[in-house]
Amino acid sequence: MKKSYGIITIDEDKCQGCVNCMMSCRTEAIRIYEGKARILTNKCIYCGKCFRDCPENAITASTHGLEDLKRYKYTIVIPTSSLYAQFPGEGVPNKVLCALKALGFDDVCEEAVGAEIASIATQEYLKEYRGPYPIISSYCPAIIRLIQIQFPNFVDNINPIELPAEITAKYAREEKVKELGLREEEIGIFYIAPCPAKIVAIAKTETKERSYINGTISISAIYGQLLAVLREVREEEDLQKATGVGIGWAMKGGEIRELERQRCLRDDKESIVVDGIKNVIKVLDGIENGKLRNIEFIEARSCPEGCIGGALTVADRYVARGRIRKLMLGNEKESEIKREEVVRRFREGYYFFEKRLKPKPFASRLDPDPIKAVEKMKLRDEIHSSLPGLDCGACGAPNCRALADDVVQGRAEVTDCIFKWRERAKDLAEEVMEWAGKKPHSIPKR
Ligand code: SF4
Ligand code: SF4
Repeated sequence: MKKSYGIITIDEDKCQGCVNCMMSCRTEAIRIYEGKARILTNKCIYCGKCFRDCPENAITASTHGLEDLKRYKYTIVIPTSSLYAQFPGEGVPNKVLCALKALGFDDVCEEAVGAEIASIATQEYLKEYRGPYPIISSYCPAIIRLIQIQFPNFVDNINPIELPAEITAKYAREEKVKELGLREEEIGIFYIAPCPAKIVAIAKTETKERSYINGTISISAIYGQLLAVLREVREEEDLQKATGVGIGWAMKGGEIRELERQRCLRDDKESIVVDGIKNVIKVLDGIENGKLRNIEFIEARSCPEGCIGGALTVADRYVARGRIRKLMLGNEKESEIKREEVVRRFREGYYFFEKRLKPKPFASRLDPDPIKAVEKMKLRDEIHSSLPGLDCGACGAPNCRALADDVVQGRAEVTDCIFKWRERAKDLAEEVMEWAGKKPHSIPKR
């Protein structure tokens, strides 16, 4: 049986309840109930780490497919730059773009072009920025969600410039409506995604009323079809518009590199690149408790090495890194982006989030009523201190504090802890023995 948690699906026939996913999830969003993994969607940041760490391949993401193209009169595909890193050899990216058209899309517009535009917009934003610091990159939606849930005080530190894929889609839609005279709803825009976080950020956007993108297809879902076409495709068009600046965003350090090259970061402050959820949590903790100071900009990526390490990619992340580096260095394309035009649109607010991001702090998840939430937090701490503190996971929660949390939320019982269960069984056995020694008054003593 398959169980869905938003875009994540767990195949319960494959799941062996081995706890690998639960122990690897950095936001404690997985539990094992009745021998099967379950996801707590209010804690999940859709990073996809559990996909990679499940030895049974029981966790997957549901995305659209090529059959969805039929729903539109005209279709545009936006490949993430990490897609280029899945294939070796000469001619990439243009060959990949031609192959996408051969698969049935009417046009291709690259995410990397949106990334180059987002970089210029960020440079302008930095020029006028007056705090609070640090500014945190908005490129990785898993990190945005992590901040909303675990570091709500930093929500206003997130750079409010839209995802590059959304910028690309906004331009493409406007252009095609004008050029082809089509209605907006007749144009279907599909994004090729490297991870579940980007799929959710598009499907359930929180930064505007509706995404400019209609559907998402994961790299892993389209890889086979693309590979088959790539072998035969002829490069009849020059479709590549992206330069190394935008393509570089696929790997860690790519975003900050351009800000440094344009000398937009302050000399009296630090700027850092951090990848991997565990490391990002450590850095944000450090900033929150004052151990890390004077940081101006953080490029934080949930996946090791950045999006090339995304859970829905195919190629080895280190090989992919080498390929992106080659594309960046060997890319002699002149940018077609007109900086003055981007600056003008920036001033009009074209690239900004249309809605303010809201925190989703954990306390309010314990109870919608803040007073009750505080009471529940107290109770949780009491239960936590009564547990053995071994964090063994045998109860189906990743650690003792998470079990205490689940008890308060009514999802579990203290006796799910094997030690508490033994204590309780021992108490009950003693009680039974005591009762066995007692007799009603009516029975004569011997
Ligand atoms: S996608 Fe990430 S946050 Fe969500 S359950 Fe899997 S590992 Fe945890
Ligand atoms: S680093 Fe990139 S691939 Fe990984 S979760 Fe973030 S946006 Fe997705």
